[in-house]
Amino acid sequence: VGVGHLLGLVGTGIGPSLTPALHEREGDAQGMRTLYRRLDLDALELAADDVGRVLDAARLTGFSGLNVTHPAKQTVLRHLDRIDPDAAALGAVNTVVFGPHGAIGHNTDRSGFARSFRRGLPGAAVDRVLLLGAGGAGAAVAHAMTDVGVGELLVADADRARAEALAAAVRETGRATTAVVAKADVEDALATVDGLVHATPTGMAAHPGTPVAPHALHERLWVADVVYRPLATALVTAARARGARVLDGGGMAVFQAVDAFRLFTGVEPDADRMLDHFAGL
Ligand code: NAD
Repeated sequence: VGVGHLLGLVGTGIGPSLTPALHEREGDAQGMRTLYRRLDLDALELAADDVGRVLDAARLTGFSGLNVTHPAKQTVLRHLDRIDPDAAALGAVNTVVFGPHGAIGHNTDRSGFARSFRRGLPGAAVDRVLLLGAGGAGAAVAHAMTDVGVGELLVADADRARAEALAAAVRETGRATTAVVAKADVEDALATVDGLVHATPTGMAAHPGTPVAPHALHERLWVADVVYRPLATALVTAARARGARVLDGGGMAVFQAVDAFRLFTGVEPDADRMLDHFAGL
């Protein structure tokens, strides 16, 4: 009893993140004093490549682990002693745990999306799924779809080279077939798939609107958005109105923290309590 944890989030633009509050509240509820610090690379005048210095400092000063976000999810890889295979396959780490075997990297965006998907869209068909957005979140979600058994993953991105690279990386795992869809063909493709996973920033305040025309959404489709600020994006609202089953981005945001909390502390968090807490933030 009474073991405490010092945790942190390293990256830029992390001021609004809800992750610190989720960990601190759950730690308190578990009877573990938990302090979760924001380690802003801009404020520290450090570049993404300097993330190793933050890791060293945190480890030396007794942190249990760190979450890592933009722009350091890839640059952190070379500063780790071991990388969980699920994180290595997608080439990005968002959770680093300090322990007797050094700094070990994990990706709970991947596991968190998979868990949110199973919970929020139980029984959803995944024979053929379209992923729109092949950036950082898109990569985690693409590999998570292989964890939930996707048959064929179609990938589209405004930057076609990104879509091609992600499709190739997923194909290389041997766990799903893939194809690249040109951005102009996304709406036609929606008539042929079981579900749409959206992982571009469209729908955030700075990027308003829907990433696909609402008329292309239909009731035989499920739609999973990763954007979670706001939870009710224009896409989520339009998909509901068109009769589609919908999963908003909140579940991924909470379950990445649920999975990280377990890795940091070795204690199973109460996922429902963390979901409730998130809903009230
Ligand atoms: P990113 O910049 O790495 O990738 C975005 C990708 O979308 C880019 O490849 C870009 O070319 C593409 N794109 C942008 N607009 C497009 C459009 N209209 N059509 C097609 N492609 C388009 O960004 P990211 O880090 O992957 O983040 C994407 C979103 O996911 C953000 O809103 C972020 O907040 C959210 N996110 C949510 C969670 C969560 O836990 N729910 C986790 C991570 C990221």
